[in-house]
Amino acid sequence: MARVEFKNVVKEYVDEKRGNFTAVTGSDFIINDKEFVVFVGPSGCGKSTSLRMMAGLERQSSGDIIIGDRIVNDMHPKDRDIAMVFQDYALYPHMTIRENLSFGLKNLKRPKDEIERKVAEAANILGLTDMLERKPRELSGGQRQRVAVGRAIVRDPQVFLFDEPLSNLDAKLRVQVRVELAELHKRLGATIVYVTHDQVEAMTLGERIVVMNKGTIQQIASPTELYNKPNNMFVAGFIGSPAMNFIDSRIEGGRAFFEGGSIALDDAMTSGLKAYEGKPVVMGIRPEHIYGDDFVHIASKEHTIVAQVQVIENLGAENLVYFRIGSRMVTARVNPVTEARIGQTKTFVVDRSKLVFFDPSTEVRIE
Ligand code: ATP
Repeated sequence: MARVEFKNVVKEYVDEKRGNFTAVTGSDFIINDKEFVVFVGPSGCGKSTSLRMMAGLERQSSGDIIIGDRIVNDMHPKDRDIAMVFQDYALYPHMTIRENLSFGLKNLKRPKDEIERKVAEAANILGLTDMLERKPRELSGGQRQRVAVGRAIVRDPQVFLFDEPLSNLDAKLRVQVRVELAELHKRLGATIVYVTHDQVEAMTLGERIVVMNKGTIQQIASPTELYNKPNNMFVAGFIGSPAMNFIDSRIEGGRAFFEGGSIALDDAMTSGLKAYEGKPVVMGIRPEHIYGDDFVHIASKEHTIVAQVQVIENLGAENLVYFRIGSRMVTARVNPVTEARIGQTKTFVVDRSKLVFFDPSTEVRIE
């Protein structure tokens, strides 16, 4: 069983400037056999360090790491039965693609016919068969990336680790290779742990996503759950683009009041927010859940916002309309047929079933 478990894993670095610096604080999770799990978070949040500890390239300061059914705390990387694909591919420039793919197995002194068979299989899976005699410099970035993946595949490891493997590719190629990786996962039925700072990559590839910030796991959940039920304002703001809007509000008598307006809450939300009656909260609403009044039939004025349009960005398939509530800029992601002019006072309709609420001091989601 190719599962990976972290039990209260901590990584501290002794840093001249920062003193003792905790890069990963008490990480606890289980990655199941055959699961595709993505670690995501801003630069420096500790995701690469987590992956490097799994690989054995870094020793954790405390806690246990389990791969399969073995505690691997003191096990050398090569004995962990994992294969890691790095950002820069790390191909040998003087070797052909065939030699690059065979290299690891030759080192392991595997029989020649087995090496040939595995290289042919991997090349076939990745569409590299016609390129085996070329050198890396004769390949495109996307093809080189596939060779790097191929080197991992031939080793037939328990677990694949990917560290930002697409970051050197241009935007179009990134989408293409992303789709290839998702297909590859289905084909191989392998356990994959993947690190990225790109939330779109995380949402499209991950069966589950681990969101990290400042060394701490903020939430582990499926893409849908992260999107609909973020644990806190960090996750809510990090997942989704454009980011979720946060509106400073106050709960009173079943309504959320904010500068220049209020929205009536449904019964379930009102009872969930009972403890916050008369108190400030942060109301969260995603840009795609705010509509122009000319596009949506308004049954009631109970969940509208009236505000002056500040900026409009035309993206072709959709328009981003910006307006202000209090000190915060709010974005609505509207259909391009929605009429909006800069300076216009416009009515926006909020899908109130999609509202979420956070405690303003802890930033934890209340409802
Ligand atoms: P990025 O997306 O930029 O690669 P990351 O989330 O992968 O970021 P890590 O590489 O895991 O971040 O680093 C986490 C923190 O640990 C950072 O603040 C980094 O500066 C620090 N760090 C990493 N390696 C070392 C080291 N060898 N010595 C001291 N500090 C380190």
